[in-house]
Amino acid sequence: TEGERLQKVIANAGVTSRRNAEIMIEERRVKVNGKIINQLGYKVKRSDKIEVDGTALSLQGKKHVYILLYKPIRTVTTAYDPQGRKTVLDCIQGVQERLFPIGRLDYLTSGALVLTNDGELANRLMHPSFGVTKTYEAIVEGEVSESAKRQLEKGVRMEGRLTAPAKVSILGTDGQTTKLTISIHEGRNRQVRNMLELVEHPCIKLTRTHYSSLNLRGLRPGQWRMLSSWEIDQLK
Ligand code: URA
Repeated sequence: TEGERLQKVIANAGVTSRRNAEIMIEERRVKVNGKIINQLGYKVKRSDKIEVDGTALSLQGKKHVYILLYKPIRTVTTAYDPQGRKTVLDCIQGVQERLFPIGRLDYLTSGALVLTNDGELANRLMHPSFGVTKTYEAIVEGEVSESAKRQLEKGVRMEGRLTAPAKVSILGTDGQTTKLTISIHEGRNRQVRNMLELVEHPCIKLTRTHYSSLNLRGLRPGQWRMLSSWEIDQLK
């Protein structure tokens, strides 16, 4: 084969962006087979030894793993928490590969979270233009009217910008609270909670039931499983 572009190989090996990898190359922080390469687009083969800041790329030539975790509440979706709270990585034992979550769920949100060491797929799925469909089940305060539902679907003004069209289904109400599902394609910070707050139905409980074609069937909070190759292909 012809080889891959150096910045792409670096971006794929960890979660740094392609752009960041380019900056590293320009800053002469990257060596190939012991020699500094500051040329963007330099082609590398699988057998080439790449170092960034003197450290070999750890994932080069290693296998990719893909995991679906039912994130429990009271876990953070970062690899490390300065406050020492439990992280989603603490839920996954016995996997040697260095994993990172694709996107985020709030501390008090549970549900479907994909973790992988495939930086290329992670970067692609996290990019807003990819528009992965995410479905959440929410319990909210009050009875949600048809007009509030339509507002959520049409878009609400959040930080000066309308949210993209969403799909909402009301599942039921007990008079005090309403259970509903909402599907969105964006991933703005605390988007679902903010949207619900903005239509005067604060969220009491939030679970992501679907990420793309994946759902939580067979998993309980804190449990995880490897994705099948068929599921991985579906994500891509
Ligand atoms: N929207 C939220 O408000 N919180 C999440 O964790 C995910 C989506």
